[in-house]
Amino acid sequence: MIVMKFGGSSVANAERIRHVASIIKAYADRKPVVVLSAMGDTTDYLLEAAELALSGVVDISNVENLHRTTAKELNISVDNFEKLLDELKFLLTGISMLHELTKRTRDYLVSFGERLAVRMMSAYLAINGTPAKFYDAWDIGFISDSNFMAAELSEEVWDTIPAHLNSYAYGKDKEIPIITGFIAKDKKGYITTLGRGGSDLTATMIGAAMNAEEVQTWKDVDGILTADPRTVKNARTVSEVTYDEAAELAYFGAQVLHPRSMNPCRVKGTPVRVKNSYNIDFPGSVILAKRSGERPPVTAITSKKDIVLIDLVSTRMIGQSGFLAHVFNQFLKWEISIDVIATSEVSVSLTINTDKSLDELKADLERYASVDIKRGKSIVTVICDVTRSSEILQTAFSELAKEKVNVQMISQGASKVNISFIVDDSESNIVVKALHDAYFGE
Ligand code: ASP
Ligand code: MG
Repeated sequence: MIVMKFGGSSVANAERIRHVASIIKAYADRKPVVVLSAMGDTTDYLLEAAELALSGVVDISNVENLHRTTAKELNISVDNFEKLLDELKFLLTGISMLHELTKRTRDYLVSFGERLAVRMMSAYLAINGTPAKFYDAWDIGFISDSNFMAAELSEEVWDTIPAHLNSYAYGKDKEIPIITGFIAKDKKGYITTLGRGGSDLTATMIGAAMNAEEVQTWKDVDGILTADPRTVKNARTVSEVTYDEAAELAYFGAQVLHPRSMNPCRVKGTPVRVKNSYNIDFPGSVILAKRSGERPPVTAITSKKDIVLIDLVSTRMIGQSGFLAHVFNQFLKWEISIDVIATSEVSVSLTINTDKSLDELKADLERYASVDIKRGKSIVTVICDVTRSSEILQTAFSELAKEKVNVQMISQGASKVNISFIVDDSESNIVVKALHDAYFGE
């Protein structure tokens, strides 16, 4: 059995749905379980419709037109989801009358996107000779806590998912399951969502719980690349990365899976393969516990712009631990998370990724430290074998010196798979290119 996950842009219109259907068909003999996101920007449309409803206007024309037009182009009957559109209109009417939108209602509302998408796809597959059956995730055992908009799946899903899908995986059931990503139900039966981009987690959870051969997430690039191809023209596909590396890649700006979504597969050792829907035969990249070959010194280079660098120097004669405790407490208080950090006895430099005003945080920090806040920075991260850091840094510094770039901070991640450099935004692309040429050849 394999799990195949297609995101919103992969199913954005009739043409794309046909294409995805042909991919599913091509994999039919590997027992695919399919996970879908909402079509295109449907989730955003639904959130916009909710805001409008709050001001008294009920309008789902965006969502309705997209789904009706697509159904027409695919020659499938709108009967497949007419009831859902009615329910959606009722819900928005309710919101518009109450002028109230709780997180719980918001989750109920956005769930329509994925529910519409699976009905569309399964109907299309079925009328074109591939028996398929749609499921709302709770129908195959997706139970979560009640933390609406960012729900955590319950431990019992490890059992409830196989209880529902074993008859397909090992039994006589022939219809390919087409399952909603992103959504679940809590113990009381209320619909929840797993956070934006949550369909990846749905897919990896099913893959891990079912002991699938692999989980495939289909994109429109050739897998995980050595750098962003918009910056580095000759970026190439990385054939294998570990779960740790993939998590760091995601944190530091690469378009991989959300780090959280890797967890179920990491627990089970289920491989996650990133595939290109426009290059079906290409193997893509696989994320796994241990690579089959030798570990290269450098795996990939990522960058993240618009970073804020904060330099703090202690102004009080307190020990380092007291100073750091104070610093971290202020970030906790203002709910700002720190990305990269470097410290000495009396000073600490750290980066955050926010466009919030930092005046209040600054005032709090200034009780113990002199504070220097600099915006417009970039983090360039080299995902690498940190046991070879001397050689990697030597190359990096000689390249950066040639480019006359001044590194403002360096940090080596605790997970031993990355080294990060902070530079000015204006230098970021130059640095990524120079480092890529040096590590991977021009
Ligand atoms: N449709 C949801 C979102 O846009 C979930 C997903 O795409 O994974 O966030
Ligand atoms: Mg989406």
